[in-house]
Amino acid sequence: MARVRILDTTLRDGEQTPGVSLTPDEKIQIAKALDDLGVDVIEAGAAITSEGERESIKRIAREGLRAEIASYARLLRNDVDLAIDCGVDTVFLVAPTSDLHIKYKLKSTRGRVLDDAVELIDYCKSRGVKVDLCTEDGSRTDVGFLLKLMESARKVKVDRFTVADTVGIMTPEKTHDLFSKLKKNAKVPLGVHCHDDLGLATSNTLAAVRAGAEFVDVTVNGLGERAGNASLEEVVMALKLSYGLDVRVKTEKLRAVSELVEKLCGVPVPPNKAIVGDNAFTHEAGIHVDGILKKPETYEAIKPELVGAQRRFVLGKHVGMKSVKRMLDEIKVSVNEKQLKEIFDKVKYLGDKGKHVTSVDLEATANSVLGLKPKKHIQMKELVAVAGNKFTPTASVKLLLNGKEVVESGTGTGPVDAAINAIKHATKNVPFELMEYHVDAISGGSDAIVRIEVKLKSKGKIVTAQGTGADIVLASVDAMINGLNLIMSR
Ligand code: MN
Repeated sequence: MARVRILDTTLRDGEQTPGVSLTPDEKIQIAKALDDLGVDVIEAGAAITSEGERESIKRIAREGLRAEIASYARLLRNDVDLAIDCGVDTVFLVAPTSDLHIKYKLKSTRGRVLDDAVELIDYCKSRGVKVDLCTEDGSRTDVGFLLKLMESARKVKVDRFTVADTVGIMTPEKTHDLFSKLKKNAKVPLGVHCHDDLGLATSNTLAAVRAGAEFVDVTVNGLGERAGNASLEEVVMALKLSYGLDVRVKTEKLRAVSELVEKLCGVPVPPNKAIVGDNAFTHEAGIHVDGILKKPETYEAIKPELVGAQRRFVLGKHVGMKSVKRMLDEIKVSVNEKQLKEIFDKVKYLGDKGKHVTSVDLEATANSVLGLKPKKHIQMKELVAVAGNKFTPTASVKLLLNGKEVVESGTGTGPVDAAINAIKHATKNVPFELMEYHVDAISGGSDAIVRIEVKLKSKGKIVTAQGTGADIVLASVDAMINGLNLIMSR
C-alpha cells in the first residue's frame, strides 16, 4: 500500500472552530510547526475570507516550507483567482455534491455543479496549480454522481479527489463500503475528510484508508466546525501503531504542536483527550502505578516519549502506598514504614474530601507526621498589582528571600502575569520554569473563591502547588511561593 499522506487543515477548518481567529503571525508559527512535524499538505486558509487571511496564506506560501500549501476555494472563479494569487501550490476546490446541498444551498443542479467543477479544474491547471476536488457532503451524495464527477475531473487532470463527511454521519462500515466503490474506479488518489459529530471521525478516516484512501484530512487537537475534524494525533498514531502504515510524521513532536495550537487558538485540550490530553499518561490508582513501575506496558498503550509526552503520577484517593513512597523520595523526604503508613492515610483522607493533592500538600503532610517545622525560604511581605485600560499592568513585590529583603517589579498581560513576572525577577537565582497555570472558581459570582494550581519545573523535577482565596492575584502569588518553597527546600 502507498504511503498515507497527511493533509492538515488546522489553519482552515480548525480555524472555523467557533471563537477561533488567528493573526498572520500566529498562522505562520503554526504552519512552520506543522512543516517541522512532517505533514505533507498544509491547508493554510480560505483566500476569499479577508485581506488578513490572504496575507497569511501568501506569507506561508513564501516561507519555503517543505509541505505542499493549499488554499480553500468554493466553486467560484473569484475564489479560485484569489487562492492562486496567494501563490499556493494547490487549490482545495470544494464542490457541494449532495442533492440536499445542490437544491437548498446552491439552488442549482447536478449538471451545473459538474460543469463548474470541470471548468474550474481546467482553469486551475492552465494556471499551473494542483487541484484537490473535495466533494462537500460527499457522504450523503448519490454514489453514481460521485463516480461521474470523479471521472470527469480526472479527464481534466485533477490531482486528488476527496470525499467529505461534512456533517459527520458516517460509520466505519459505510465509509469502507463507499471508498471501496470509489477505489475500484479511481485513477487519481483519494482523500478523506471526516467530522466528529458522532465521535467517529478517527474511525471513519481509518476505514477509508483501509479501503484505499491515500490522503487524510486532519486537524491538531481535532479542532474544527462544531464537534471538530478527525484529529491529527489520533489518526497518525493509529495509522502508525495499529495499522503499521508509513506516515512521515515526527510523532515525538505531537505534544509540542498540540500545546502550541492550544495556546494560540485558545481552545483548551480536554484532559482525557487521546494522545495529547494532560491525563493521557497520568496515573493515580495504586494498582496501575504499581504495574507501571514494574513494567510500563501493563497500563500504557504507547510509550509517552513516542509522542513527546511525560508519564505523571498524581496523588488522590485511589493512590497506593508505593506511589506515596515514590513521591516522597522525589521530594527527598525519608520515612520509616510506620511514618509512611501515616502519611499514606492522610493523603487518602485528603483525597476522600475531593482534594487534588499537590506535592506541597504531600510535603506538608510529611512534615506534620515527622514533626518537622520546615524553613520558609520565601515569604511575601508586600504585593501591589495594578491594571486598567490606560497603562501596562504592573506589579511590585517585597519578598523575604532566605532572610534577605528583595524588592522587584514586573509587567505583564494582566495583573496576575505582572505579579508572577515580579516574583520571577525577585527569585532569579532559583532556576525554575512555570509549566502550567490553572484557575478554578470554586463558588459562583464575582466574589467567588478561586483555586489556583501551578506546575513548576526545576532541574527536571516537577512540583505542583495551590493557592486559594477571593483575590486572584494573591492566590496566584501564594501558589507560586508555595511551589518555590518546596523547590528551595530540596
Ligand atoms: Mn470540513
